[in-house]
Amino acid sequence: MSDQTKDSLSPSSCAPYSQPVLIDTHCHLEMEAFDNDRDAVLQRARNAGIEAIVTVGSDCESIEKGIKLSQDYDFIYTSCGLHPHEARDFSDSIYHKFKEYVKNEKVVAIGETGLDYHYNNSPRNDQREVFVKHIMLSQETGLPLIIHSREAQDDTIRILRDADVSRGVFHCFSGDVDMAEKVMSLGFYISLAGPVTFKKASMLKEVARLVPDDYLLIETDAPYLAPLPYRGKRNEPSYLQHTVKHVAELRNINYEDLARITTLNAKRAFGIGVISEKAVIAYKIRDSLYLNITNRCTNKCSFCVKFHTDYVKGHKLRLDHEPTEGEIKEAIGNPAAYREVVFCGYGEPLQRLDVVKHIAQWVKKKGGTVRVNTNGHANLIHKKNIVPELKGIVDRISVSMDAHDETTYNRICRPLYENAFTAVIDFIRLAKEIIPEVQITVVNLEDVNIAQCKRIAQQLGVPFRIRSFNAVG
Ligand code: SF4
Repeated sequence: MSDQTKDSLSPSSCAPYSQPVLIDTHCHLEMEAFDNDRDAVLQRARNAGIEAIVTVGSDCESIEKGIKLSQDYDFIYTSCGLHPHEARDFSDSIYHKFKEYVKNEKVVAIGETGLDYHYNNSPRNDQREVFVKHIMLSQETGLPLIIHSREAQDDTIRILRDADVSRGVFHCFSGDVDMAEKVMSLGFYISLAGPVTFKKASMLKEVARLVPDDYLLIETDAPYLAPLPYRGKRNEPSYLQHTVKHVAELRNINYEDLARITTLNAKRAFGIGVISEKAVIAYKIRDSLYLNITNRCTNKCSFCVKFHTDYVKGHKLRLDHEPTEGEIKEAIGNPAAYREVVFCGYGEPLQRLDVVKHIAQWVKKKGGTVRVNTNGHANLIHKKNIVPELKGIVDRISVSMDAHDETTYNRICRPLYENAFTAVIDFIRLAKEIIPEVQITVVNLEDVNIAQCKRIAQQLGVPFRIRSFNAVG
């Protein structure tokens, strides 16, 4: 391959994509399976929007080939590890080589390592010892672990817990929801591969639906485990699109959202690429446009995502300033292009009542539809009933009730005001008289009596929806 060809595949010289970018967080590009057409495979990956690939080492030979590939192509990264199948071959001299490999800046992870009690190609004791060595190397270098765990879940979790390690990825995750929760409680990512697309993979599909955005990665594990419709064929990075499409459908979000979410996670997990630090004012989720006009809020909900991340669905929402009306209009563009324009974001939008009113009027004039997601404190904030001011300009309002009584509300939402729960209920009652569609939402927390919340909604005569705990607003 000429240097010119290699450059043409590098991210720096590549034309901007018209499609969402993806990162294949686990494949084996150095394998013989790609020897005849590796360049074509990489070109197809680029054409499919693959922004970066982590080609994963499983022994010294594959690591050296991976490093070579990572030097030839800007967008390829690699890792250093001995597969548990080969654990019986581990030696001091291999460990010494590993210490040299990790000095290369394109080596971004330790692994794949872990335990495989399905094939037992190496004695289990050897596997456990070598796994611990990899963990030590990860702790020494600060690089994340790439973990292979097959039919060895209890031992894998126990060893990681004992080592107090919290950075890494469970690659080609094959466990159930219970295992996924244990993995996430350690701080590890769940990486889904082609098998999630298989028709009978009901357990994996359930995991794919339930893993919170912050913990999800997507990989091919190419040349193995091709997703549908290529099951049984050689896998390659460009097929990642099929897994992304399927997982997006399972999560009821669009392809673009899942691509953004998992690309951000991959960059964070492996410290690769550039993460945009620019806060967004308007961001699209499915076919709605969400507005982020303030980060101020009169609650401090224990479950609020803003206390542990600046990002929602891969969008940075931590504002460095509250946007002006001009900035908001510019960020919206054509409001009629969306199913609805939603005031939401990282704070309580009705704190900026005048801005909401002016923008809502403008959206309506342009043929758009307006929803406000609110904590229902507006009348406390403005010390008057503001609901009539929303008449004719707000089509829908979604009020976060978030508890079944005042005591629980105070404990979960930690409001700035006394008797805030009572005020929220009053706000819902007033809104129902004026706003065409009013909805109550509640986060599904253990403390919350959902049946009681439903009864309150029935008494108020408004629909009721349970929100996932990682939703904002
Ligand atoms: S979840 Fe909503 S109401 Fe609660 S603190 Fe966050 S932005 Fe405020």
